[in-house]
Amino acid sequence: MPPKEFALRRRRAAVALDTGKLDALIVSAAPNIRYLTGFTGSNGLILLWPGGACLFTDPRYEIQAAGEADSPVRVVRGPLQPALMKLAARKRFRRVGFEASRLAFDAYEQLRAQLPLGAVLEPVSGLVDTLRTIKTSREIDLIRRSVALNSDAFARAIRKVRPGATESALAAEIEYRMRLLGAEKPAFDTIVASGARSALPHAQPGAYPIRRNQLLLIDMGASREGYASDMTRMAFLGRPGPRVRSIYRAVLEAQLAAIDAVRPGVRAGDVDRAARRALRAAGMEKAFVHSTGHGLGLEIHEAPRIGRRQETPLLPGMVITIEPGAYFEGFGGCRIEDTIVVTSSGCEVLTPTAKELLQIE
Ligand code: ZN
Ligand code: ZN
Repeated sequence: MPPKEFALRRRRAAVALDTGKLDALIVSAAPNIRYLTGFTGSNGLILLWPGGACLFTDPRYEIQAAGEADSPVRVVRGPLQPALMKLAARKRFRRVGFEASRLAFDAYEQLRAQLPLGAVLEPVSGLVDTLRTIKTSREIDLIRRSVALNSDAFARAIRKVRPGATESALAAEIEYRMRLLGAEKPAFDTIVASGARSALPHAQPGAYPIRRNQLLLIDMGASREGYASDMTRMAFLGRPGPRVRSIYRAVLEAQLAAIDAVRPGVRAGDVDRAARRALRAAGMEKAFVHSTGHGLGLEIHEAPRIGRRQETPLLPGMVITIEPGAYFEGFGGCRIEDTIVVTSSGCEVLTPTAKELLQIE
């Protein structure tokens, strides 16, 4: 990422601060710190104000921060909060925002203990997170590459599936392939769920053998240069019977209907409704127990949420997943998920992997 892009992001954050009548913002969420400065370490805090920013970290990250961050860095021994508040006091900031959903209570208490007389800490929700929903073309390119890598890893790993192999072995193969192809890590714990276990939308892969004539659900994502991808595909070892085929068809129709609904100005909730309507037509609405999708980028789950009654309008540059599913206890479940980008005229599906139920003989 060119340094100019970080400076631009900080300027946009500062404008949002001004709108909220805040003098400064304490940024504590690691992905937000990365977004604003480029720093990828696990321990950091930023004090951001119109016209400036300072990153606080500890000596373990001194070399890394100097190389990564394009803002001034202060290396602190011990807790970062007192050093940050000292700077805030020197700058005579009165109203200092903090990320309400991203700051641990004890860290908040440490900040409060150092608060200068007359200053207040104001909870702020989603300021940087909202900026992050609109990706630049460079970010979209990075997500596109993460998605391509993920699909490539899927194609290589799925070739190895044989009856009797365990869910864990397939998950390990998938993550091994990701790393070989250049991912830093999986973007989340890979889900491999076979048979009746595919009815658990977030099943943990285990020592369960993958058998013939059962559904096989694979939900996987890679993190590449910090950016996530996310895809779910269904496979079947053998020839699927009528029930599997009708579930699959209904979920696929729901997924296509939701993708069809995506364009600028449409509310996230309307996209969710399009998926639900298609499943209702198949009598499977009750089996769809989660949201239709979510934003992704530096994190696997970001704003906006594509769920019921979500009023957020979709805007060009948003990258979201569309992943309706239907789950039947004791039988199995089905989900189909792509990563897509909202464009000025509609949307583009980034995921290149074919969407048919993958039959493995
Ligand atoms: Zn997923
Ligand atoms: Zn997802």
